[in-house]
Amino acid sequence: MNSWCRSLICLALVTLVLGVPASAETVVLFKDVRVFDGVDPKLLKANVLVEGRKISKISSRAIDAPDGAVVIEGNNRVLSPGFIDLHAHLTFQAPKDAMSLHPWAVGAIAGKAAEHYLMSGFTSIRDAGGTHPDIARIIESGTIEGPRVFPSGAVITQTSGHGDFRGPADAHPMLSGDCVSHYLGNGHSVIADGVPEWLAGVRENLKHGATQIKIMGGGGVASDYDPIHTLQPSPEEIRAAVQAASDWDTYVLAHSYTSEAVTRLVENGVKVIEHGLLIDDETARLVAENDVVISTQVKIFRMGADLPGMSDENRRKMLEVQAGQDNLISLVKKYDIKTGFGTDFVFGMYNRIGEEFTARAEYFTPAEIMRQATSESAEVIRMAGKLNRYDNFGEIREGWLADLVLIEGNPMEDISILENQDNLAVIMKAGRIVKRP
Ligand SMILES: [Zn+2]
Repeated sequence: MNSWCRSLICLALVTLVLGVPASAETVVLFKDVRVFDGVDPKLLKANVLVEGRKISKISSRAIDAPDGAVVIEGNNRVLSPGFIDLHAHLTFQAPKDAMSLHPWAVGAIAGKAAEHYLMSGFTSIRDAGGTHPDIARIIESGTIEGPRVFPSGAVITQTSGHGDFRGPADAHPMLSGDCVSHYLGNGHSVIADGVPEWLAGVRENLKHGATQIKIMGGGGVASDYDPIHTLQPSPEEIRAAVQAASDWDTYVLAHSYTSEAVTRLVENGVKVIEHGLLIDDETARLVAENDVVISTQVKIFRMGADLPGMSDENRRKMLEVQAGQDNLISLVKKYDIKTGFGTDFVFGMYNRIGEEFTARAEYFTPAEIMRQATSESAEVIRMAGKLNRYDNFGEIREGWLADLVLIEGNPMEDISILENQDNLAVIMKAGRIVKRP
């Protein structure tokens, strides 16, 4: 054995015995905080030690700060898991009437939105379509600041469907052999008709790095050709999308509002319904029996009719679906349907992201909202199975990723404090402090 080999073994033995000291900047002690663990509404007085990317110790007894640790005095403030938005759209943040912006400009705005999300305490988001997975990659690499992104890639829509945002005179990509729509060209949307095209659309997204697949499963509000009652796509096309997704160990989430649409989607294997505002009791029962999630958003349906660029018909459709909101939430509660926390803030609304917390208080207790925005949304994200490359997050537990927010004031008493970024004293993403006083 040469000396190089011996010294390597020696180093390995020393490491085994002593452990590798984490570098100074990766050890952080939160002293005297009240922990909301993501599940239990009761706050636990504790100290929390973060080493590297993970939470290494939670104790009601004092923890000695390791040499070189950053010590953050909690002063009894609330420490929460980082927040999660299940229905974000980083690249739908240009005003609706500017949808033909050059993709470079769209990307620049997405970068601003990503940063705003993180500084609002959101450490993970599921992008519900329209965003290329490369955005997730450049955030992960540290090139731009933002939450961990679980991208759906381009939304998949039928011709004339909710994702068909071509202008009235734009050619059809297949029928004309010439794609002249910026919207399609930017990769926000794929128009697919027939099983082979639906398979190709899903597989193309997976190729690029989508962690789950978003389809347009019925009429939409902000789109111009499809009344709310329309059924989109066919059962065979839905099954093709679900099959192609489940072959990669992931799932399909589907935009839809009506009982007819949701029933068709659930019966053909869709696991997450986005919106669902117009479903009836029988459909809610079907959803619950199939363990399907209804991802709800509250605020967007209150303000969406006033968004710039909405036509009279868009506004009329918004009011049509908004009328179902009270009933939907009562059905979600009645059948104990998992819902998580979503916003669907688009067209530049990203800088009001915290308002969703307050809007939900009309229906849920602060503790329920906090659970939705942390552990419950994380459970939905984990449905991406083997495509979720990350360790566990969404709860404050030893061994889980240190996504943490130290909050001024008590959100369990007043959830609206989360609207104001100034009330987020410390934000940490995977052990890295991104904001501190
Ligand atoms: Zn959406």
